[in-house]
Amino acid sequence: MEPRISVSQILSARFCPVRFYLERDSPHAESPRYTVCKQISLHLGTTLDADRIWEEIRTVSPGIEPAMRIFSDDCVERCRQESWPRPSETDLAVSSPRLGIAGRVDKFFDDGPAFAITRSSEAPAAGVHGADRIRVAAYAACLAETLGVEVGTGYVEYIPSGNLRTCSIQPGDRRGMLRAMELARRVLSGGIPRKPHRAPCDRCGQQERCNPPIAPLSRRLRG
Ligand code: SF4
Repeated sequence: MEPRISVSQILSARFCPVRFYLERDSPHAESPRYTVCKQISLHLGTTLDADRIWEEIRTVSPGIEPAMRIFSDDCVERCRQESWPRPSETDLAVSSPRLGIAGRVDKFFDDGPAFAITRSSEAPAAGVHGADRIRVAAYAACLAETLGVEVGTGYVEYIPSGNLRTCSIQPGDRRGMLRAMELARRVLSGGIPRKPHRAPCDRCGQQERCNPPIAPLSRRLRG
């Protein structure tokens, strides 16, 4: 049986398979921005106490920069403007042995869309980001096998902008998930990817290691 791929690995390979390759042996460090958003998320659906949340953030991440308090307070203020459902469970481990993927769902609800994922990015003008559609599709596939719950819709919490968006999973989202899984699987099984035609290099921290530019991925994978 093939080793399981995490949902975060799938999304990393989707961002750029070269970056996924370069970072494949590096332990993933949680960003301060995510630490803040995750802690705020755990309080959504209750009265948000900015002081209490910041104290919890400092407990979770004792070395966090004090300046992140400004970001935290800003997020809390925006989240106060939205209505948030309370989950019945948080950080639920789920997997799909059939697809060979696994992950952790941020929130699970007894009613409505059955789960939510928490993001530390701003919401787009409408709907959810393309990468988040893939995340929702992957977690829904895992939930279907772990709990026997068929889920066609998920929530995405965009904490910095204080938005709760609903994502109805489409066939194209599941196709995107399968493509990204394949990219991740090739790298994890020893393949050396090449630079995609439209790699998001302007948003990548690996530009120096990736220099000189690598040839397009499609040429490498055709062989
Ligand atoms: S610099 Fe561009 S091609 Fe290289 S890893 Fe980053 S996104 Fe991929």
